[in-house]
Amino acid sequence: MGQPTDIEIARAATKRPIQEIGAKLGIPAESLLPYGHDKAKVAADFIAAQGEKPDGKLILVTAINPTPAGEGKTTTTVGLGDGLNRIGRKAAICIREASLGPNFGMKGGAAGGGYAQVVPMEEMNLHFTGDFHAITSAHNLLAAMIDNHIYWGNELEIDLRRVTWRRVLDMNDRALRSVVTSLGGVANGFPRETGFDITVASEVMAILCLSADLKDLKRRLGDMIVAYRRDKSAVTCRDIGADGAMTVLLKDAMQPNLVQTLENNPAFVHGGPFANIAHGCNSVVATRTALKLADYVVTEAGFGADLGAEKFFDIKCRKAGLKPAAAVIVATCRALKMNGGVAKADLGAENVEALTTGCANLARHIENVKGFGVPVIVAINHFVTDTEAEIAALKQAAAAAGVEAVLCRHWAQGSAGIEELAARVADLADRGEAEFAPLYPDAMGLFEKIETIARRIYRAGEVVADQGIRRQLKEWEEAGYGNLPVCMAKTQYSFTTDPNQRGAPSGHSLPVREVRLSAGAGFVVAICGEIMTMPGLPRVPAAQSITLNADGNIEGLF
Ligand code: ADP
Ligand code: MG
Repeated sequence: MGQPTDIEIARAATKRPIQEIGAKLGIPAESLLPYGHDKAKVAADFIAAQGEKPDGKLILVTAINPTPAGEGKTTTTVGLGDGLNRIGRKAAICIREASLGPNFGMKGGAAGGGYAQVVPMEEMNLHFTGDFHAITSAHNLLAAMIDNHIYWGNELEIDLRRVTWRRVLDMNDRALRSVVTSLGGVANGFPRETGFDITVASEVMAILCLSADLKDLKRRLGDMIVAYRRDKSAVTCRDIGADGAMTVLLKDAMQPNLVQTLENNPAFVHGGPFANIAHGCNSVVATRTALKLADYVVTEAGFGADLGAEKFFDIKCRKAGLKPAAAVIVATCRALKMNGGVAKADLGAENVEALTTGCANLARHIENVKGFGVPVIVAINHFVTDTEAEIAALKQAAAAAGVEAVLCRHWAQGSAGIEELAARVADLADRGEAEFAPLYPDAMGLFEKIETIARRIYRAGEVVADQGIRRQLKEWEEAGYGNLPVCMAKTQYSFTTDPNQRGAPSGHSLPVREVRLSAGAGFVVAICGEIMTMPGLPRVPAAQSITLNADGNIEGLF
C-alpha cells in the first residue's frame, strides 16, 4: 500500500552528471572537483571570485515543536527548492550533511523524504565526500598534540585535571563517553580522565560551518580553548601549535558539496553541527556561495523555531551578515495534535479539538519569527492521515495568527505538490518587506542575553542559575568574550526544558545547568537540561539488519 519507501524512490532517481547541475548555477566544469559522477566540491578560488555579485533571497525553513519523528523540515526544504525551480525561479537549497553514527542506531536519513529528496542519499548518509573524516582527524590531532605536549614536559603548565579538549568519533558508542587515557606505564604519558563526543558535537565542526574562508578558519581554530592552568588561565589551540596542521587537514572539507534533488536541481550539502551545543545550520560558505549563484536559496535550521530559527538568526545570520527574506514554518496535523495533548500512538485518528488546542504552539512560533522582522508563511506538510476538517482548522488558526497556511504535497508528488507554496514564498521574498534584526545586541551582558531569549522566545518567567554560573559568565565578559551570542541547548520538544510540556506554556522557569565557552566558534553555550554529546545504540541497533544484498544494494539502512 501507498508510495515506495524513501530508499526505493532515491534508487529509482534519474541523476544527471554533476557538471550539468553545476552549469545550472553557472559553475564551469573546471571549478567543480568531482567525487564520482554525482557529487562535487565547488572550488575555493571560484567561490572567492564571486565577491561582487548581488545576493539572491534567503528563505529559512523552520518548524513548530515536532514529534519525535521529525516534521519534515528537510523534506519541505528540498520540496520548496524543486517547487521554485518548477515555477521558473532559479533556486538552490542548502542543507546539512548527515552524521554516520546514528544511522546504525535507528533508521532514518537526513536527505529529505518521499519525492522530495537529495541524491545520492545513501552516500550522503554514509561517507559522502569525507568532510566528517577530516573534522574527526583535525579534532583528534589536537587531542594527540595536547597529550604529547604534557608528555614532553608540559612547558605550558597545563593542569592535567583541566584539559577540556576531548576526542571525537563519528559513531554512537556509549562505552567511550568517559575513559581514562595513558594507562600502561611511564612511556604512555600521564593517566587522566577524559572522553569521546560524536564528531558533529566537535567545536571544529561548528567552526567549519561559521568560518568565512580558510584564514578565518585558522584564526578560529587557534582561538579554541583546550585546557586551563592551575591559575585558571586558558591554554588555546594556538598555544599548542595545532591550528596550522588542522587547517591543512580541513582545506578540502571547507569547500561546499554540490549534489542534486530527485528533480535534478542544485543542492548544497555542507557541514552538520549539533543543534543543541552548536547552532545546527549548514555552512556559511555554502549559504553564501548559493546566494551568489541562485536567485532564491532555501535553507533549513535544525529543531523547532524556538531553538533552530533563533540560533539561525542570532548566531549564523548575525555573524555572517545574512539577511533572510522570508521564513517558512512547517506544521503537520500530527505534531499539532501532539502539542494539543494527544499521545504519539493516537496521532493517526482525527482530533480537531486537540489540533486546535495545539495550534497555540504554531501561533507562538509565528509571533516569535515575525519578531525578528522576517515575514512568515506556514507550510502544511500533508500526511495521508490528515483529514479535511483538521486541515481547515489549521488554516484557520494560521489566519488568526495573521499568516497564510498552504497545503503542500511534495512528499507524495514532488514539486507538482508544492507549486502554490513556492509561488507564495517567491512573492513574499520579492516584496522585500523583511527588516531582519537579531533579538539582542552584541553589547548586552551574557546572562541578560540568556534572559532575553528565555523571556522573549520561550516566554519563561525567570532564568535560574546558581552563583557559580553567573560568576563564570562575568569572568568571560571580563576576559573579552562578552560580545559573543549565546547558543541555547535544551529539548526541542517544548518551549520549556520539560519535553512533555507541549503547546504554548508561559511563566515557567528556565534552569541553566552549565555554561561552556566555544571561543573559536564564537558563542557561549547555555545548557538547560540533559544534553548528550555521545549517543548510544538502542537495544536492537539498525546495524544488525543492515547488509549488502546479492545485487550489491544496501538493505536495512533506511
Ligand atoms: P526534519 O528535517 O524535520 O527532521 P525530515 O524532513 O527529515 O524531518 O522528515 C522526517 C521523516 O518523515 C522522513 O523519514 C520523511 O520521509 C518523513 N516524512 C516527511 N514528510 C512526510 C509526509 N508528508 N508524509 C509521510 N512521511 C513524511
Ligand atoms: Mg532535517
